[in-house]
Amino acid sequence: MIMKNIFILTGAGISAQSGLKTFRDTNGLWENFKVEDVASIEGFEKNPKLVHDFYNHLRPQMLSSMPNKAHLAIADFQKRYSDGEVNLITQNVDLLHEKAGSREVFHMHGRIDECVCQHCQKVIKTLSDVSFDMPCPYCRALKLKPNIVFFGQMPMFMDEIEKMLRTCHIFIAVGTSGVVYPAAGFVMTAKYYGAETYLFNLEKAENNFYFDHQVLGKASETLPDFLENI
Ligand SMILES: [Zn+2]
Repeated sequence: MIMKNIFILTGAGISAQSGLKTFRDTNGLWENFKVEDVASIEGFEKNPKLVHDFYNHLRPQMLSSMPNKAHLAIADFQKRYSDGEVNLITQNVDLLHEKAGSREVFHMHGRIDECVCQHCQKVIKTLSDVSFDMPCPYCRALKLKPNIVFFGQMPMFMDEIEKMLRTCHIFIAVGTSGVVYPAAGFVMTAKYYGAETYLFNLEKAENNFYFDHQVLGKASETLPDFLENI
């Protein structure tokens, strides 16, 4: 038996098919908010109330959305594949992979159901609204921030991800444009270390030089068959 490790990276495109909007296709506006106001450290320092209002508005939408066939196919694949590791890394802050039944999901850009205390660094689960004048349950500081990686912050799990990229045999990017770094560089690293690389996306990737195969179309239609045949 030849061992083959699989690395799956998912982005906004996979959740778009579950009705969640991405901020890239809205001309810099996300639900009528300016991206730099609600997704940057500078914006948060300037107006934490606005940032919390924004995520309080987004949270119920994300929590009530349902996974589509692409999320379900990935979860099913993880359960049945036994010829190596399947690592699932997502740029999405929604929980659609978990809802589909995926267990270990690396949320490199954070999660909508968490906030983090900027004083003691503890992560707090939250399914309801958060406000800037709520004290941290651990240290009582008024420093809660959505546990979302903002522009100007380092994505999470980068050391683990680097290791997975070096040891994967098949790299699959789903619904991610290949424009935003560092995720856009993942395919390059995987390819450098010898992986065969696939893209499942509506349109061609900007960095398509590194993809061996590009399958254009809705991932909910193209991905299930592919994973069925690995
Ligand atoms: Zn704290």
